[in-house]
Amino acid sequence: MKYVTNTNDSRLASAQEHLSYIDPAADSPWQTYLAQVDRVAPYLGPLARWAETLRRPKRALIVDVPIEMDDGSVRHFEGFRVQHNLSRGPGKGGVRYHPEVTLEEVMALSAWMTVKNAAVGLPYGGAKGGIRVDPAQLSRKELERMTRRYTSEIGIIIGPQQDIPAPDVNTNPQVMAWMMDTYSMNIGGTATGVVTGKPIQLGGSLGRVKATGRGVFVTGREAARRIGLKLDGARVAVQGFGNVGGVAAELFAEAGAKVVAVQDHTGGLHHADGLDVARLSAHVQEAHGIAGFRDADLLGGDDFWAVDCDILIPAALEGQLTESRARRTTAKMVLEGANGPTLPAADDVLQSRGILVVPDVICNAGGVTVSYFEWVQDFSSFFWSEDEINARLEKILVGAFAAIWDTAEKLKVPLRTAAFAVACERVLEARVERGLYP
Ligand code: NAD
Repeated sequence: MKYVTNTNDSRLASAQEHLSYIDPAADSPWQTYLAQVDRVAPYLGPLARWAETLRRPKRALIVDVPIEMDDGSVRHFEGFRVQHNLSRGPGKGGVRYHPEVTLEEVMALSAWMTVKNAAVGLPYGGAKGGIRVDPAQLSRKELERMTRRYTSEIGIIIGPQQDIPAPDVNTNPQVMAWMMDTYSMNIGGTATGVVTGKPIQLGGSLGRVKATGRGVFVTGREAARRIGLKLDGARVAVQGFGNVGGVAAELFAEAGAKVVAVQDHTGGLHHADGLDVARLSAHVQEAHGIAGFRDADLLGGDDFWAVDCDILIPAALEGQLTESRARRTTAKMVLEGANGPTLPAADDVLQSRGILVVPDVICNAGGVTVSYFEWVQDFSSFFWSEDEINARLEKILVGAFAAIWDTAEKLKVPLRTAAFAVACERVLEARVERGLYP
């Protein structure tokens, strides 16, 4: 960190001129992101002059995705791809299929990708995509048609050197395979590097499926060590039991922790002595949710947040950890597996209660880090072993976490502000060095 001047210059925080398509009053993920940028602005020194760059996406594409349904009718879905910042390299970020996807949400998710990629030191800008759809209502063929049409529509801005999508909520290696195939068909060649998170036989990387959950575990372990919390016997509560939450729960259980509570979109479970995570994972594979799992007590609605635990892992959607939930948690540490799970007011409560928050932009960066490995392997057509991948992942995350921890101590700020300080300095320096065109 070169720029550590803490100035009260009000121009820094008030520079935002609202974008016309954003509701300034909304308690949305985009507003959460803007509040996070406002908190880091005083630590950016002379680079703060460029901070407005962080407050607006470079490019946002809205696409119509019409598909023929199996019954012969035609339905239209709304799709998005947002490239928030490309100063440090091609865009990188996942694609989400969810009925509540909005442009604002995708903008926030793309901005968090800018910060995450820079915080970890990956040579990417930030991007994200999504379709407003409930994929559970589509047949496999309908899902394939929708994915292919969406890929064609955003094909004008994605590419191995332009912007590289990956899986996010409700998308998986099969969806990535369809995206890779569609893009390749359209350019008349094979472009494995256009998406990451692909199946292994199509240029995917070993270790990618578990990488985000593994990153949550690695950064959580590093944080626990620093606050003197032993993982062996620690009680863990996880919201979201998908790609991120399910794997994180598995790895904490393997390290001797007790996963005492789990919540997903189908309900909540509690077991004071620890759930059998392997059996719960097998159940979720079959039942597509935790509901119906035996050997645990049911946990109603908001009770999840008040469960006795040492580590709380929100790994579902944004805005879940509200101010009142932050007051109720008994955790000593929050590991943000999800993107943007903690509202700014909740952040303040957690800080005042002395609860450590390991922010999303470092905590869940394991996925994009192994996506980067996949992209590099695709370019060289030379593939690494899983041990090699996990060792490189561990090295990058442990190093990035240590740098952010040291910055937090130096600036006397929470880890989130420290991560933003490290990342925004990198993004804005690249911005300044590239210069303003024309
Ligand atoms: P997923 O689709 O595999 O799982 C999502 C989980 O969230 C499911 O268990 C679902 O039941 C649960 N959920 C959905 N709505 C819920 C609600 N209202 N209450 C409680 N639980 C709910 O998705 P994922 O890939 O695990 O992503 C989860 C989060 O992690 C998202 O915020 C995503 O952006 C973030 N993330 C994912 C990756 C990745 O590589 N997949 C990488 C970084 C960050």
